[in-house]
Amino acid sequence: MPNIAFLNGRFMPLAQAKVSVEDRGFQFGDGIYELIRTYDGRIFHMEDHLRRLEQSARELGLPMVYSKTRWKEILAKASSRGGFPDAKIYIQITRGVAPRDHSFPKKARPTVLVTVRKMLPLSSELLEKGGAVITVPDIRWGRCDVKSINLLPNILARQKARSSGAFEALFVRDGLVLEGAGSNVFAMIQGRLVTPPKGPAILAGITRDLVSELARKSGDSVVETGITPVDLLAAEEVFLTGTTTEILPIVKVDARTIGDGRPGKTTRRLIHLFRQATRP
Ligand code: PMP
Repeated sequence: MPNIAFLNGRFMPLAQAKVSVEDRGFQFGDGIYELIRTYDGRIFHMEDHLRRLEQSARELGLPMVYSKTRWKEILAKASSRGGFPDAKIYIQITRGVAPRDHSFPKKARPTVLVTVRKMLPLSSELLEKGGAVITVPDIRWGRCDVKSINLLPNILARQKARSSGAFEALFVRDGLVLEGAGSNVFAMIQGRLVTPPKGPAILAGITRDLVSELARKSGDSVVETGITPVDLLAAEEVFLTGTTTEILPIVKVDARTIGDGRPGKTTRRLIHLFRQATRP
């Protein structure tokens, strides 16, 4: 089955989906995106992702183009046409095609793209043994709560991580560890599960919210507060969350071992609960 795309109202094979070189997404990174998982053909937390897409659109003065009902129909159709039980659905809206000028064009129609690709899970070895992260200075803009397609600092940070054999890079700003290049971070510190608070400095991860809820329901105390690099290194457990990352145990931060160097017991319990939530 070919990978499929939905572009400006039409489904087509992904290879045929083409956008003008004057698209503002291409020229300015003037757009937003979402990434959604399907598990066994079910679209996971679709409402939450559409709500966040709407928030990102509102913040940048972009129209949502379709009603919520229409979006749900498009995503359901995309998922079934894609034909992968476990897929990642990527949505992108840009401000459309217009002669290059920084200010908003008067007449451009937003470009709407949805693609569906097979989800390749993280290696079981990484999940069992846990991964490594590095910390990097946060050079991103001041609205990291907006899921903008401008990802250059994230790309550079992730590449730096991969070049040093780590899975992810964690951004540090004003003495606080904020989030990964494409994930949120949790640490078990003195028996409490800590994650940085929502605000303009991080993306309000949908997996973050779900994992917080699962942890609270299973008796953990979850605290949203700042984590310093020193706190992180002294943590009993560390893990990342994200739509494609799910819950990834972290056993090394900047080459220093976390806990006993193996995925912690709270992390393993949450992975188990998370799996149950994805495949009820
Ligand atoms: N932070 C950043 C910077 C991200 O790119 C992502 C992945 N979209 C996340 C956090 C995790 O968010 P979610 O759980 O909604 O995928």
